[in-house]
Amino acid sequence: MRDVGEARGCFIDGKWIPTAETFAVVDPATGREVGRASDATPAEARAAIGAAEGAFAEWAATPAAERGAVLRRIAAELERAADDIVSLIVAEQGKPIGQARFEVAYAGQWLEWYAEEARRTYGEIVPPPTATKRLLVQRRPLGVALAITPWNFPVAMIARKLAPALAAGCPLVVKPAEQTPLSPAAFIDAVDRAGVPAGVVNFVTASDPTRISDTLVGDPRVRKITFTGSTEVGKLLLRQSADHLARVSLELGGQAPFIVFDDADLDAATAGVIASKFQVNGQSCLCANRIFVQEGVVESFADRLTAAAGELVVGPGTDPEVAVGPLIDEAGYDKVCAHVADAVERGARVLVGGDRRQGGGLQQGYFFAPTVLGDCDDDMLVAREETFGPVAPLLTFTDEAEVVRRANDSPFGLAAYCYTRDLGRAHRVADALEFGLVGINDPLPASPVAPFGGFKESGLGREGGHDGIEAFLETKLVSIVC
Ligand code: NAP
Repeated sequence: MRDVGEARGCFIDGKWIPTAETFAVVDPATGREVGRASDATPAEARAAIGAAEGAFAEWAATPAAERGAVLRRIAAELERAADDIVSLIVAEQGKPIGQARFEVAYAGQWLEWYAEEARRTYGEIVPPPTATKRLLVQRRPLGVALAITPWNFPVAMIARKLAPALAAGCPLVVKPAEQTPLSPAAFIDAVDRAGVPAGVVNFVTASDPTRISDTLVGDPRVRKITFTGSTEVGKLLLRQSADHLARVSLELGGQAPFIVFDDADLDAATAGVIASKFQVNGQSCLCANRIFVQEGVVESFADRLTAAAGELVVGPGTDPEVAVGPLIDEAGYDKVCAHVADAVERGARVLVGGDRRQGGGLQQGYFFAPTVLGDCDDDMLVAREETFGPVAPLLTFTDEAEVVRRANDSPFGLAAYCYTRDLGRAHRVADALEFGLVGINDPLPASPVAPFGGFKESGLGREGGHDGIEAFLETKLVSIVC
């Protein structure tokens, strides 16, 4: 693994620039410092935007096939550096090594997909209103894009934004989360080795986002803001960017319902909850948050899920046997504890887990036992807010209409899941759910080839598929009098 003792700097105009101040990055499994990152100032943030602005015209004019070739080279460099980057993800994020490997491979898929998609930003020739005119509709890159990303998928969330931005012809400034700046810096190293022209990708890190966010978000040279994170910060960025009408894409929080009908394959549904709920230790926007089980199968499903959750090995992500790592930090841990305490106080039963894991060298990390709660209701915090931890609350329902109404009764609308063997019901429920992604017997519906994003307060716009590149394009009409 690359020595990350020294901060890497900010990557501006093709060079790593050291900053005067740095900050510590901590392993959530041990509480120990695993490296340092650069604490950018507003001046460095402005320099990053200036570099991107300077690179825009040439990058936009670069043929799409060449932009695609650059993305393929980044994917190749990412793959070459995968072992190092995986180690960094485990060290700073805490997720198990298998999930970190999956994340890096998934990031590569986004680069590969948009390497192809770069060539498909077709325009139109529109029939003119008079014989003397020709109307050409072109798709043009928006300009400098700013990507602000979270800590739960530190590399994949950047790839999800960098790939379509570069494919569309937009240079980029990336700001990762303060908890996880090391693996993104190693990814940017791979971008550099791939021979991306200077200024096309820039990278700034900060110990406190407010130190540079006004500068980044408020700069009128930034024409596109693409953000993944909490709904609260997403709304703030939308307000801050309103003055210069930057185009904004927001991938925000979720509160996913996971519906198990009595005709479902209960083993598949159990495996589905385990895959959806406990990936990244419950700290994913797609995680099942409210598990609705039809009344006739509640007991047998609860037994299966309790047994499966109880078998998940908790520990540091470096151990290949581990399925559930630490929570990211104390605030994340406190939120999980508060949700479980609230549920128990209101009558929920802890079927498995429910407390901190401390023995066997785990006392320094924020380890929480995989938890299943029975007898939950819609008023509990676990059913109203994103828990962002390894807690699976079970709620009982009677019929289809009731569960659809309760599932939709949320300000969020990112992912929803439904397990049933009835084809008609699968279609009816998929149509009725007010969510951007619906997995029918599918706990992992996200893919670079298809649109990803939320209804309601879960977001604005889509990443993935053709929609993902559209988000970085502007429409221009050229009207020619012949
Ligand atoms: P967050 O607190 O909103 O942070 C996300 C990013 O925004 C980080 O880079 C953060 O920097 C930055 N940020 C925070 N406050 C800011 C401000 N005032 N101005 C500018 N930037 C600011 O979210 P998080 O806790 O990292 O991530 C968890 C949330 O992300 C959950 O709600 C989850 O559902 C959501 N998420 C959504 C998706 C999706 O695709 N829909 C995917 C993954 C995660 P610092 O780290 O330095 O604070």
